[in-house]
Amino acid sequence: MGPPVRVGVLALQGDFREHLAVLRRLEVPAQEVRTVEDLEAVDALILPGGESTTIARLMAKSGLDRVIKKRGEAGMPLYGTCAGLILLAKELVEDRPQPLGLLDVTVDRNAYGRQVDSFEADIHIKSIGPFHAVFIRAPKITRCGPSVEILAEHDGAPVLVRQGNLLGSSFHPELTDDTRIHEFFLSFLGKP
Ligand code: GLN
Repeated sequence: MGPPVRVGVLALQGDFREHLAVLRRLEVPAQEVRTVEDLEAVDALILPGGESTTIARLMAKSGLDRVIKKRGEAGMPLYGTCAGLILLAKELVEDRPQPLGLLDVTVDRNAYGRQVDSFEADIHIKSIGPFHAVFIRAPKITRCGPSVEILAEHDGAPVLVRQGNLLGSSFHPELTDDTRIHEFFLSFLGKP
């Protein structure tokens, strides 16, 4: 057995504390990632919800954007919730921010937010089951590439997608008590 895996949460802005709390509940060694050195110490990374333009600016300033992209391309598991999904995307409808370009989806940043600031919905997730999803100024996935698997939809739009080691949701599982999506993400590390 090798050393235990460590899961990082990008802690530049947004609701990273809620993700850390979920990981601690699951008794997974977890830590905040703010620098390139922090990233070197983790085996997987969660990009939280928040303000994608702010997180993108701080990622570029610290050089984390380049190393996250490199490690994501090399197979490190990455999970983006809401603003994190925006950052993982290949393409945005808006011209800001510059996303990492990893997950082959197009995202409309504030598509739901323009209609209603936040809402909750009962969705059905493939191989997980019913899930109560919390959406806050949620981005909408408007296109999925051929290698992207849609795991859940709401009103005909994908809200949870996977492409190999990459997972993205337009909602916030870290804001509920339900840890199943985090557990599913952790299974990408080859752990039960
Ligand atoms: N729409 C927001 C953005 O553009 C994301 C909202 C969220 O993360 N709750 O960053």
